This record gives sequence, C-alpha cells and structure tokens, in this order.
Amino acid sequence: MSFTWRYLVRPDGSFSRMGNIDGSLDNLSDEELDRLRPDDRDDDEPPARLCSRCGADLLLHWHGPLTIGVWMELCVACDAHRPAARAFIRWHRDPDRDPAALPHLFEDWETETMHAHGWARAQEPEVPFSPPAPPGLTPRGRG
Ligand SMILES: [Zn+2]
Repeated sequence: MSFTWRYLVRPDGSFSRMGNIDGSLDNLSDEELDRLRPDDRDDDEPPARLCSRCGADLLLHWHGPLTIGVWMELCVACDAHRPAARAFIRWHRDPDRDPAALPHLFEDWETETMHAHGWARAQEPEVPFSPPAPPGLTPRGRG
C-alpha cells in the first residue's frame, strides 16, 4: 500500500490536502477533488484564527500530523525569520505561485514547525528482521 498526499491549490492560495491511498486520487482533476471536499461551501468563512504568540491574523492554521493535538501556526510577524516558514509565506502571497511547489514547501514548514514544538520527523522505520519460527514451535492441529 502506498500513501501520499494530494494537494489542491485554489486561486487565492488556500489549499486542501487529501490522503491519496494507492494513487486512488491520481486520476481525478482538481475540479473533481474540490467537489470531494466536505461540503462547507454554504457556511460563512470560518472566523480568522489569531496567532497565539502575537495576536495577529494567521496566514495559515493547520493541524499537526497524527493526533497529537498540536496546531501549527503560520504567522507573518512571528515566523518570517524561519527559512521554511519564510519560503511558504512568500509562496502564499505570490499570485503567480506554482501549485506544484506546495507539497515541498508545506512539508518543510511542517517539519520546521513540529521541530519547534519538540518533534522530529521520524526516519522510515526499518523492517525488523524476523527469523522464521522454529519448526518445533509451530502449533499443531488437534485431531
Ligand atoms: Zn504571531
């Protein structure tokens, strides 16, 4: 099984990210992906999130990886000194932004932000070597 992220970038620079298991979304156009999203179109814009550090409007507020309860904030005032955040802010504000650059920028920013929270991106785990079970331990059928 393979798992990647499929990113959908809208003209205003906002974007969605969807899990793409075994390439199941590879054949969908951006328009089709947009329709797949939870139907939040009729709602008003969600209230702007404010930076927990300086109180300014956040450029981006995103849940951290896994279910560890960390919310990642991208704040122009607080984060511009960090390289991945700065690159992401620049991309976000650029009307000629290249959607193909998003996954790399986002994941760099995610890594940088989570690192600041004390997390490190795990290396790919090595598959532990498991020797074949000795024949003497194979359960025997009854009967
Ligand atoms: Zn801030």
